[in-house]
Amino acid sequence: MVDFETRLSSVVGDSAKKLQKAFGHRTVGDLIRHYPRRYVDLEHPDSFDDLEPGQTVAFVATVVDVKKLPFRNNRRKFRVVVTLTDGRATMEAVFFNQYAVAKTPVGSQQLLSGEVSVYQGRLQLASPHMRELPPGKTLADLGRGGAAIPIYPAGGGLTTWEVERAVHLALDVVDVFPEPIPDAVRREHGLLDAATAYEYVHRPRRRADWVEARRRLRFEEAFEIQAVFARRRSDTAQRRAVPRPGREDGIRSAFVERLPFSLTEGQSRVAAEISADLADTRPMHRLLQGEVGSGKTIVALLAMLQVVDSGGQAALLAPTEVLATQHQRSIERMLGDLAKGGMLGGADEATRVRLLTGSMSAKSRRQSLLDIASGEAGIVVGTHALLEETVQFADLGLVVIDEQHRFGVEQRAALSDRAAAVDGVHPHVLVMTATPIPRTIAMTVFGDLEVSTLRELPAGRQAIQTNVVPVAEHPTWLDRAWQRVHEEVEKGRQVYVVVSRIGDAESDDDVEPPADEEERRPAVGLVEMAEALGEGPLAGLRLGRLHGRMPPEEKDAVMSAFAAGDLDVLVATTVVEVGVDVPNATMMIIMDADRFGVSQLHQLRGRVGRGSHPGLCLLVTGSPAGTPARQRLAAVAASADGFELSRLDVELRREGDVLGVRQSGVRSSLRLLSVVRDEDVIAAAREAATAALASDDVPADLEASIRRLEESERAEYLERA
Ligand code: ADP
Ligand code: MG
Repeated sequence: MVDFETRLSSVVGDSAKKLQKAFGHRTVGDLIRHYPRRYVDLEHPDSFDDLEPGQTVAFVATVVDVKKLPFRNNRRKFRVVVTLTDGRATMEAVFFNQYAVAKTPVGSQQLLSGEVSVYQGRLQLASPHMRELPPGKTLADLGRGGAAIPIYPAGGGLTTWEVERAVHLALDVVDVFPEPIPDAVRREHGLLDAATAYEYVHRPRRRADWVEARRRLRFEEAFEIQAVFARRRSDTAQRRAVPRPGREDGIRSAFVERLPFSLTEGQSRVAAEISADLADTRPMHRLLQGEVGSGKTIVALLAMLQVVDSGGQAALLAPTEVLATQHQRSIERMLGDLAKGGMLGGADEATRVRLLTGSMSAKSRRQSLLDIASGEAGIVVGTHALLEETVQFADLGLVVIDEQHRFGVEQRAALSDRAAAVDGVHPHVLVMTATPIPRTIAMTVFGDLEVSTLRELPAGRQAIQTNVVPVAEHPTWLDRAWQRVHEEVEKGRQVYVVVSRIGDAESDDDVEPPADEEERRPAVGLVEMAEALGEGPLAGLRLGRLHGRMPPEEKDAVMSAFAAGDLDVLVATTVVEVGVDVPNATMMIIMDADRFGVSQLHQLRGRVGRGSHPGLCLLVTGSPAGTPARQRLAAVAASADGFELSRLDVELRREGDVLGVRQSGVRSSLRLLSVVRDEDVIAAAREAATAALASDDVPADLEASIRRLEESERAEYLERA
């Protein structure tokens, strides 16, 4: 019997090796899920009139001219320009160093597919796939009844035609196609069955065939992923947690009473959602995402205080020492005497806030560990150091993970799993992300979490004005920017200057440049920048430097000095990207802004305009006008909406990058589904999968899919570990 698990070599013979080398395919299923990239629709061929640059097209055309043109500087290399006609207009296709193409007969009919580009003001196809129709034959004679020809992703020495041949061999011998979608779901959504879908996606007879086949297969991908999440959610639902309902007259209400501002509507709503979760006997598993500066920390703090009121402890995990230290300080400051538990002058309800990081002195570390183990510390803030085995909590009731995207899944689960190992009871978990993500991605990447969203900013927050400073066209604008720094400082404000790399001897770029441009001038480094500024345009101001590789004490000293107003200007790398909160900072200059992604720029500029003064952010770039980089910067300057920008960010990146390494299992299962475009499909599949898993008979093929996805994810971790 041949099914999707059958080795390719037993079905396609010698091609198996090539297919494995080119695409990593090992099984019949791998090959059959190698779907065509596009189709030549012979009933509705693409006409030359409608072509646009960037479009991928496939059509049949007649050759009217073939020219072999050697390169002037290297006579051994050449171009072949093939002029084609669709019967009315003409267009050129260009090939490089291909002897076979140079022999293309004039008058022959060719099947072409490729991307339309512009060369010297004219549309052309550069290095398309081209295949000749045998002379005197029409497409119908090619041995297909159909009026459509699939074009496969090719590569590794395999052409689309060779792939097609192998796929057909496989399709012809498969006895059973896996069918993870239950019949009822298929009927409800009007989806083809698996066998028909695979047949139609590879051997369509007409457009409707491949459209329907792809619809079904796309749904299947979404359905399988959502089934994994539905299973995880129901597993979580079966876990037990200690309910932490808090109390009326505890530290939480004492804290709320002394807050100097009132909560935003969003904060109140989300705080109530979390409060209810904490009172449940099932562990909370919630994602709090919010616009930069929307006040997530307070919401998390309220949750932590509720747990303290119920006799438990809360841990707040932060990705960097800078952020952990800042959190610990600001929480202590906000709590005032409520943080002086057991001390003279402490309030009755008071607790203690302890810090735990890798770089603490042995003495402070011991004190922290002691208070954590005894339960004296109701709130513990820390970095990865909190995850170590030696850290023993008396009664861990809540784990809050700030900036969760900086942590791996394993790290996120570590504290919770360890606590559960003791008595089988799981703590509640709240993860926070400062990078708002579109709903579809939340559903695909964090599908096992409930999601709370903070969109609004606290009242009275001033807008951040963002301008692009294109130094290539307007070199003097940068001088004006430095002058502006002086003006801010004279008003008593502070300024960040952000650079993309440290630029000392041993460091590489801190930031991976977006993939849209290959070669560029080197970005300015922190060391060089700080020196140049100190001796030049910012001479006389108090300058500090901050980067990720400084010793922790030094980092802390600089950050504290900046927060205290003892520094006017902080020249920093992206260590200031997340969480840093100095309300008196009003201006940020981002050097080589084209090196940063859209969401990252939004995150960075969120460091200014956090107090009552308006913020200004200047995006300095040497990229020329009209480039994708400049368009990206213009988009950031034009929008203050992090959700909108993250959507744009997602559109600019490839799907795989969006999902990130965290979700490699999911990522590699996505072939037709786009987390950017297919919101409706994902939502429908989520509902269907949740219902399907709640029923008594989950199809065996669906169980197999769930196992396959979970395993591929685990395998990926092991590989990375
Ligand atoms: P983020 O969501 O980016 O983590 P923070 O929690 O750091 O934002 O909050 C940003 C700033 O806004 C902090 O200085 C905080 O004290 C302040 N803040 C939070 N909530 C409110 C509110 N309701 N009204 C006024 N200021 C607030
Ligand atoms: Mg924050």
